[in-house]
Amino acid sequence: MAKIQERRSEIGFIERSRNHSEDCRQCRWFSLCRGGCYRCRDGMEDNYFCESYRMLFENCFAQMEEISRFLFTTRY
Ligand code: SF4
Repeated sequence: MAKIQERRSEIGFIERSRNHSEDCRQCRWFSLCRGGCYRCRDGMEDNYFCESYRMLFENCFAQMEEISRFLFTTRY
């Protein structure tokens, strides 16, 4: 694990994953999506799956909220 962490630091994985285009940062879904997986982005470009994410969030956000509320209010 130490080696993996060392390598991540060397290549700046975390820092580079925080690079988002202005469009992405202004997107209404950014707080939920955060640009998606860094591996599916090409530099500062939006995620390859951006259009799919937008469709998913538009169509499923209400249900996602419902599930979230259920999980936070239910004790197992
Ligand atoms: S839906 Fe697209 S534009 Fe919006 S935050 Fe996700 S990747 Fe960025």
